[in-house]
Amino acid sequence: AAKAAGRDRYALFDPAMYADILREADDRAELEQALANDEFAVHYQPIVDLPTSRLIGVEALVRWEHPVRGLVGPNAFIPLAESTGLIVPLGRWVLRQACEQLARWCEEFPTAERIRMNVNLSARQFQHEGLVEEVGQILAETGINPHQVVLEITESLLMQDTDSTIETLGRLKRLGVRLAIDDFGTGYSSLSYLKRFPVDILKIDRSFVDGIDTEHGDATLAEAVVQLGRALQLQTVAEGIETQEQWSTLQDLGCEFGQGYLFARPGAAEAISTILGDAKPE
Ligand code: C2E
Ligand code: MG
Ligand code: MG
Ligand code: MG
Repeated sequence: AAKAAGRDRYALFDPAMYADILREADDRAELEQALANDEFAVHYQPIVDLPTSRLIGVEALVRWEHPVRGLVGPNAFIPLAESTGLIVPLGRWVLRQACEQLARWCEEFPTAERIRMNVNLSARQFQHEGLVEEVGQILAETGINPHQVVLEITESLLMQDTDSTIETLGRLKRLGVRLAIDDFGTGYSSLSYLKRFPVDILKIDRSFVDGIDTEHGDATLAEAVVQLGRALQLQTVAEGIETQEQWSTLQDLGCEFGQGYLFARPGAAEAISTILGDAKPE
């Protein structure tokens, strides 16, 4: 026992590990400070109807306007926000921003009533106990139509196929929001879970769209996802469309919606306001 305790003590003072702990504490403090200082911003990327390229919605994507490093993308800080738990307040902030923005758009533009606001939820947020209440509160306070909100969750989250996952999804659905599976096709899930979970939309991962005109396998997989969506009456959205060829191939496959640099990069809310202002109400 003494020997084991000795080993443990040694492990506690492992300088490399200690440095890691300090660095993580530092990074968390920096992120926390950034949130307090209002250094985060939400950008919006259009989601379009593929046949007409008309705007049908936007995806909210968080950025860090770092005072020294400039605009920092989420891949550089979301994993840390996840591991430190800061994703819970940060994600709540993003959702509130996005819903407030949608409320402003609806006030200003009649056409905005038709668009949807997609917001990413990470696994850690999903496991957070207060999630459903917080979403409900933000919906109530901003007064938007819950049906206009789409929460994007990942396949890996659904693979933790537990009763509590199903229960949380059901409670979110009862608030009136829609659910999308993000990066679909990258997980290792069995198809049966799709039937078990109350999801509405599949987002085809960019990696399949990438090779859709060059890699036979990618086109086949993209087609399979579209057909799966159709069979289960789910909408399909293709991510990362960059070329005309990808656009037309996806239309041929029967994919309804898409987003990608071909249509627009993520940008400040004003860019979306311009589109909404130009759109003719029907
Ligand atoms: P995602 O949810 O799959 O978002 C799509 C990502 O693909 C975005 O990257 C977007 O800028 C990028 N993208 C869109 N079209 C194209 C294209 O044509 N070509 C290429 N190369 N990329 C394209 P971004 O903004 O860097 O976000 C990366 C990831 O960070 C997101 O992937 C999402 O998983 C996560 N994320 C972003 N904002 C949030 C947030 O508020 N909360 C959480 N939990 N995660 C977020
Ligand atoms: Mg997403
Ligand atoms: Mg995605
Ligand atoms: Mg992704």
